[in-house]
Amino acid sequence: MSQQFARRMSTVHRSFIREILKVTADPEIISFAGGLPNPELFPVPAMDKAAHEVFANIGATALQYSTTEGDAGLRAIIAERYAKRGLTVDPDTILVTTGSQQILDLGGKIFLDRGDKVVIERPGYLGAIQAFSLFEPEFVTVSLDDDGPNLEELEAAFKAGAKCFYAVPNFQNPSGVSYSLEKRKGVAALCDRYGVLFLEDDPYGELRFLGEDLPSVFSFCKTKGLLCGSFSKIAAPGFRIGWVVAPQKDIYDKLVIAKQAADLHTSTVAQAIMRRYLETNDIEAHVALIRERYGRQRECMVEMIGKYFPEGVTITRPEGGMFLWVTMPDGCSSMELLDMAVRDKVAFVPGRPFYVDGSGENTLRLNFSNSDEARIEEGIKRLGRSIQSFLK
Ligand code: PMP
Repeated sequence: MSQQFARRMSTVHRSFIREILKVTADPEIISFAGGLPNPELFPVPAMDKAAHEVFANIGATALQYSTTEGDAGLRAIIAERYAKRGLTVDPDTILVTTGSQQILDLGGKIFLDRGDKVVIERPGYLGAIQAFSLFEPEFVTVSLDDDGPNLEELEAAFKAGAKCFYAVPNFQNPSGVSYSLEKRKGVAALCDRYGVLFLEDDPYGELRFLGEDLPSVFSFCKTKGLLCGSFSKIAAPGFRIGWVVAPQKDIYDKLVIAKQAADLHTSTVAQAIMRRYLETNDIEAHVALIRERYGRQRECMVEMIGKYFPEGVTITRPEGGMFLWVTMPDGCSSMELLDMAVRDKVAFVPGRPFYVDGSGENTLRLNFSNSDEARIEEGIKRLGRSIQSFLK
């Protein structure tokens, strides 16, 4: 039977996280597993109004096929928002995509042949591992320190012939780690020196609740850089609207061809509603609200971990985003801990799926964006109890 499937499917699995989400559908379980934004912050009435206005004003256009590149007005707004943050972007270099996840597929299609070396962070974003795996590359991993990737390891990977480095420099999923300014410059300089394509995935950059905003690695890349963004975490993921900035015309054109082949274009009606929403609402005020809420929830989670987790368990202290990362003593299995935790009605994502080399057994990811402070306190208390008895 297995012979009916293409070879590329043999090494790719269902997302482990989506499988856990089925278990955590039980409302009694406090779940820190999903990567979900807080739905209380979705701008429902404003989107409702924007949708009505779109159908009243440009209904037929919004329901028609449209260009692959994306809504010109929406691309102009994306460029204006970058300008406010100090990055000059030509709207004609922006390709609107069906979620930023789609870029990982399109990028894989245009860059990766079987066996090509692609560098990812260790731990790395599961959705990228899954998307790239379909192109059968050789993954090379670089370890993440508190301030970003280990540059010696990165250089060694580049010397060994890597084609591309995929990274999430702001509040990384899964670890919550952000690159320091020095590491950003260092990564860009190495990519330039070795002619390696840098694919920067930045869905969380605007969700900084502590410290100073830093320029993207992309902004330091002189040669081959791509910058991906998304409305998923600053407005709502259900629209499935992301984008990529691709200043190199040959790369942009190839991405457009791959997108045409994949889905012709991103939903016209979704783009029209998002554009109307952005034109008639103060998105910056909305993002400030999200930052404030997530900041409080992260604060609460860190405090509760201090109170309820046993000695010997360490965590990252993210300055933004939606996740923090827990490391238990060597030899502890977070997969085994999960069984115990679910019985105690709390869930998380074990770290191992984020490692392509099968390591990370003693690590786990906690999401703090999708639970209020009362649930965080109760959930961390339960998890602390599970870890305590597990370590005994
Ligand atoms: N990249 C990273 C690092 C993510 O965490 C996510 C969402 N889980 C995505 C890309 C995909 O986001 P979307 O397709 O909703 O824009």
